[in-house]
Amino acid sequence: MLVPIHEEMMREALASHFSPRALEIIIAANRKQDALSNQIGHDEIHFDNNAIDAGNRYIKEQRGYVLAALLSPGVLSAWIAFGRLTHSAQDFYSHTNYIALWMEKNPRLSALDVNPVDAEIFASPKLHSGKIYFPLDALYFIPPLRKFALALLPRDSHAWMNLDSPKQGERFEYARAAAVKRTQHEFEILQKILTPEMLAKFVDL
Ligand SMILES: [Zn+2]
Repeated sequence: MLVPIHEEMMREALASHFSPRALEIIIAANRKQDALSNQIGHDEIHFDNNAIDAGNRYIKEQRGYVLAALLSPGVLSAWIAFGRLTHSAQDFYSHTNYIALWMEKNPRLSALDVNPVDAEIFASPKLHSGKIYFPLDALYFIPPLRKFALALLPRDSHAWMNLDSPKQGERFEYARAAAVKRTQHEFEILQKILTPEMLAKFVDL
């Protein structure tokens, strides 16, 4: 998703759970995942190129860092790891066909009803994510060349599949709603596994 959308979703999902200084650091770490150095060769961070298992492993790994950081003095690295984790969790809905599969399964339900953790879709062999085809997928990001790139790119490309912005149509609302809910869900997972002392340190309230 576009960086300002990541930020908006973070505030929506987490502002009531963290101190303002914690929230700003978590958001900065989330935004940093879209820096160029975290784009190239890091499919797992954005669930690109069918890196579904690697993306899920990355999320678990960052959750592990949150725990490890909270067991040691200081809290900064816990916030940074949680910012990284949430970025990937959010990109899952804009870079895979999870939303298309969910809408197919629930044709009458609205974006507000979206379930971000449907176990059946997680396990579906149909679940895949957009492939990056260089250099055409790079040309897609240059607005005057977008049409040209789309005409040449296959349907399983990032350019055709992404739900990164409202310009992508109706499905974007579902992806955004799912990403906000998933962000809250990731916080709830930590709420369950952290001791009260660790949680107090983490939320910084
Ligand atoms: Zn990303």
